[in-house]
Amino acid sequence: MVSFLKKFDTKFVRNINSLVDQASDETWAETNCLSCANCCKVMTPTFTKSDLARIAPHFQMSEKAFYDKWLKTDPETGDKVNRIQPCQFLDLKTNMCSIYEIRPIDCAQFPHFKRKPFGDYNHVHEQNIEYCPATFLFITKLQHKIEAEFVW
Ligand code: SF4
Ligand code: SF4
Repeated sequence: MVSFLKKFDTKFVRNINSLVDQASDETWAETNCLSCANCCKVMTPTFTKSDLARIAPHFQMSEKAFYDKWLKTDPETGDKVNRIQPCQFLDLKTNMCSIYEIRPIDCAQFPHFKRKPFGDYNHVHEQNIEYCPATFLFITKLQHKIEAEFVW
């Protein structure tokens, strides 16, 4: 599966967006994230400036106080990320996000199936396969579709 994904570094698939849409729709029809929540348990979102500006006031906190309480800066990427896992906003009894309506954009977009061009995000899917069952299923489905149509 990893070698399949790596080929997107050098190969162009003509109708990739359509195949991604099909694989994504099929994956979500078979996936219940509330029985998983693994992304919230073992990974961290990146908090953007606009995420901080939206979420900190929700807790009547300044952005600085919110950062100091919950976040740290990744020394390699400079990203603002959670200090702890599972995420402090995950309700562990229900697997639901307690700030769902205002959650970071990274959470809202995860697992980024439809980010375009697909070939620029193969490394993201490669990382997420390990943690996200939906990504594993999505890439499995995509691989079947592509190998049925192309000499890969
Ligand atoms: S890890 Fe993947 S399947 Fe599990 S809750 Fe997150 S997005 Fe859904
Ligand atoms: S903010 Fe919500 S969706 Fe994002 S990691 Fe935390 S619990 Fe999960």
